Amino acid sequence: MSKPEDAVCAYIGLGSNLAEPVAQLRAGVSALARLEQTRVEACSSFYRTAPVGRLEQPDFINAVCRVRTGQAPATLLHNLLEIERRHGRVREGDKGGPRTLDLDLLLYGNQTIRTAELTVPHPRLHERAFVLYPLHEIEPDLVIPGRGALRELLASCAGQRVEKL
Ligand code: ADP
Ligand code: MG
Repeated sequence: MSKPEDAVCAYIGLGSNLAEPVAQLRAGVSALARLEQTRVEACSSFYRTAPVGRLEQPDFINAVCRVRTGQAPATLLHNLLEIERRHGRVREGDKGGPRTLDLDLLLYGNQTIRTAELTVPHPRLHERAFVLYPLHEIEPDLVIPGRGALRELLASCAGQRVEKL
């Protein structure tokens, strides 16, 4: 950690539905823990979730980690995409398709960020049960900047299949 006062609390969403998803997620959490100036403070349970969007693909395993990091948001995103690449993610220009490991920067402190590469809070976080349930497990009182209380967002996507492992 650089100076502790520079560190920000961030939330990372992890997902996989190919090539032993549980092992992929464990490897993802370990990779987060090895990032410079970054400590993994909490990790949710793993959840088995129904695919959203493209339905004809295997169920996903999802989880959320809370990290404390001295990395700037763009640097952190760059490192997340690098971890995805190392874990065999092939981008087919097709969002929502099957993937070995997906790492999303869900929240970075209470900041709102909109650049060409990065939108924070993650633009679809508020409507995805597979993110909201694990996030709620580790941070029940969270308020999402621009979206409101996590508790209320959760109620609005109760129809999506999410099973805690
Ligand atoms: P999804 O996870 O929604 O299926 P992808 O992982 O395929 O989407 O898309 C990743 C791309 O989205 C990255 O290249 C990145 O530049 C962009 N992106 C924008 N905001 C974020 C964010 N908050 N977290 C992760 N990727 C983001
Ligand atoms: Mg992603």
